[in-house]
Amino acid sequence: MRLSEIGEFGFIDRIAPLGLIRPEHVVRGIGDDCAVIELDATNRLLITTDLLVERVHFHKSWSTPNIVGRKALAVNISDIAACGGIPRDAFVSIAVPEDVELEWLESFYQGMASLAREFDINIVGGDTTRSRADLVINIALTGIVHRDEVLLRNTAQPGDIIVLTGPTGQSAAGCEILLHQPHLPDHLAEPLTKAHLDPRPHVKEGRFLAASHCCSAAIDLSDGLSSDLGHICSQSGIGALLYEDKIPLTEALSSACRHMGRDPLDWVLNGGEDYILIAAIQEESVARLEHEAKQQGIDLFPIGILQAKSGVRIVRRSRITEDVHPRGWNHFMTNLE
Ligand code: ADP
Ligand code: MG
Repeated sequence: MRLSEIGEFGFIDRIAPLGLIRPEHVVRGIGDDCAVIELDATNRLLITTDLLVERVHFHKSWSTPNIVGRKALAVNISDIAACGGIPRDAFVSIAVPEDVELEWLESFYQGMASLAREFDINIVGGDTTRSRADLVINIALTGIVHRDEVLLRNTAQPGDIIVLTGPTGQSAAGCEILLHQPHLPDHLAEPLTKAHLDPRPHVKEGRFLAASHCCSAAIDLSDGLSSDLGHICSQSGIGALLYEDKIPLTEALSSACRHMGRDPLDWVLNGGEDYILIAAIQEESVARLEHEAKQQGIDLFPIGILQAKSGVRIVRRSRITEDVHPRGWNHFMTNLE
């Protein structure tokens, strides 16, 4: 059997039961944005890792090595943010093909270090090997969070309001622009390609939600809204109803879609790598939280409600309700072209 028959998530489900030999201190193992480990009486340790493979996750010709370095760290920081934590210490491992210049690698590290400085992260180790084919980058990152403020995927409740901390779809549109170079004015292409190449991890937003004590669950948007909201729903044993007219759509994305003859809803629902947060908020606290968020310069977009009935649905602008299938990124199932 090939992995393409069961996909990335089918594979993870199969190996997950093999993992725990010493479960006593593991609050959450495989299945969430971070592993959550008991640290002391007050705090939990968060651990996450992400692998970036040249020609799968990034193309050297698309951006500077500095920006590749920033993104490699940003995607890990985003997983710490999704659990409500503060990022702490990183390990960086690289497998380097022989034709990669030292200058490229130094600039990659400078980019990573610039984002590490912004988020107060140490780089404390890693590994360096040669690669016979592509450049491979793996970062592992720890974080810390108060034991009462851990945000998980599997704790959402029916009746909670689904909230985004930013717009979706921009990164996927930016990726398409980089891949196919359509004729677009710079003021449209630039914010979309930037969203793809240099995302800002939502640590401030994650901390705000965690400290509010009325956020039931959260995930960061790496695969796409339909898939990542689907993870919250399936792991919490519930479903969701979205409202198309509530989902934020940036001017850049809607104008670019008009130029490119694309339906923005497709990218908004299924595009990945926006690295915003999707959160479930207790209904009675949403208005207060929106007000407090605004005062702190944080955007919260309520886009729908969680329901006991499984599956994700969307009320279109036409008022017709349609099923939403998880069509975001899935390694071994998503076509790379
Ligand atoms: P994210 O997109 O938030 O980084 P993933 O979808 O990559 O999360 O992973 C989902 C869960 O599966 C995480 O808990 C992750 O640690 C775990 N996981 C992924 N690949 C493996 C693997 N090869 N072995 C063990 N656990 C894995
Ligand atoms: Mg994640």
